[in-house]
Amino acid sequence: IWEYIEQQFHQQFTRIGYQTWIESAKPISLTANTLTIEVPSQLHKEYWEKNILTKIVENVYAHFGFELNPVLTITGQTYPNGQNTPDKTSANKAMQSKVSENENDEFLTSSHLNSKYTFDTFVTGTGNQMAHAAALVVSEEPGVLYNPLFLYGGVGLGKTHLMQAIGHQLLQSQPNAKVKYVTSEAFTNDLVSAIQTKTQDRFRQEYRSVDLLMVDDVQFFADKEGTQEEFFHTFNDLYEEKKQIVLTSDRLPNEIPKLQDRLVSRFKWGLSVDITPPDLETRIAILRNKANAEHLDIPDDTLSYIAGQIDSNVRELEGALIRVQAYATMKNERISTSLAADALKSLKLQDATNGLSIVKIQETVSKYYHISLTDLKGKKRNKAIVIPRQIAMYLARELTDSSLPKIGMEFGGKDHTTVIHAHKTIAQNLESDPEMKANIAELKNILRQ
Ligand code: ADP
Ligand code: MG
Repeated sequence: IWEYIEQQFHQQFTRIGYQTWIESAKPISLTANTLTIEVPSQLHKEYWEKNILTKIVENVYAHFGFELNPVLTITGQTYPNGQNTPDKTSANKAMQSKVSENENDEFLTSSHLNSKYTFDTFVTGTGNQMAHAAALVVSEEPGVLYNPLFLYGGVGLGKTHLMQAIGHQLLQSQPNAKVKYVTSEAFTNDLVSAIQTKTQDRFRQEYRSVDLLMVDDVQFFADKEGTQEEFFHTFNDLYEEKKQIVLTSDRLPNEIPKLQDRLVSRFKWGLSVDITPPDLETRIAILRNKANAEHLDIPDDTLSYIAGQIDSNVRELEGALIRVQAYATMKNERISTSLAADALKSLKLQDATNGLSIVKIQETVSKYYHISLTDLKGKKRNKAIVIPRQIAMYLARELTDSSLPKIGMEFGGKDHTTVIHAHKTIAQNLESDPEMKANIAELKNILRQ
């Protein structure tokens, strides 16, 4: 029966719709006429009750000739009233305390949407399934069910991605729809310049004539009285016209400091859904997707390894992948787990050695090899001195943000090509000389303390 049902819906849904609503559901048991179906969230349950169950009953009756009695259960957590209860795991709390960064640089197209942020490229899993489902509903029926849709969660968990996916999807089904995406800062800036140039009418016309308004990171409305005042009216106008509003924030509306009560209450009118950090399987799936998109050939165990190392957020996960790739290119090796381990080790070391100075490196190296600082920075060409000198330059290059000329300067005014040469020599020797490799590892350890 389930196969039959799945087949039926395959034809009726778009691919994404199918993935969201049907694939995520599991048949649990069939006793007499009762088919128990497990769905991942309250939102799924409501959607099934509203849109799917009658169809199943009708189809099964037409095909098999008996009246099916479907029963829905929800996996794990339940969300009464379809409202999400914030998941205060420690990880999530830690994320929420970080301030979201501004990602303006990524918005390229005229609709201000990043072409990469679509539903197609969004990997669902625990932590974002509910938000994804809600976003999809909103993109299919804007202004109807969840208005506003309020997505919240820590930095780098996919809020902006999901929000923009709504915009893309709506534009695909309704190419003439007016879609506007802004960060909350952009909204404020627009307003300020409208006031300065006395073009408030145009500002209002612009913001109040859209079918879908997305405002990213509204926590930055905190403390901005004028912005809140204007946004209040924008919100009301759009809401009355049944235009869809989507907002994101790093925290719940009532947790945003100095946000007017009337905005807090309006933000809660629709649906608030949180996004929590992805679990290991989801992280692996995200990496795999990303690797495929970038045509990177990475073994599965390496993907698992990276996903196991980075568990904070998706942005850092992507960063780790890029780093591993860069490292492989630099070393001209294929990506493997041990290479990934090396690449990510130096990432952690970099964190730990933030603020490390070239002088500190020189002192440590000269002590370690029992040579004087003067010799280390000097011009003597004997091996016992040249190698520690090159190692010190190598470490300065690896562990500090200093430019090549700056490093050269610190080593008695040498040319930057000398630094490049030193770095290259050591990097090569590291491969063939286990003793040097061990020494450098030990030096890094000392520097870390
Ligand atoms: P936020 O707005 O919550 O800080 P973003 O939407 O900017 O996070 O996401 C950070 C990066 O991680 C983006 O490059 C985004 O494409 C990616 N990302 C986040 N979640 C997912 C996901 N579930 N699937 C694929 N990529 C994701
Ligand atoms: Mg964002």
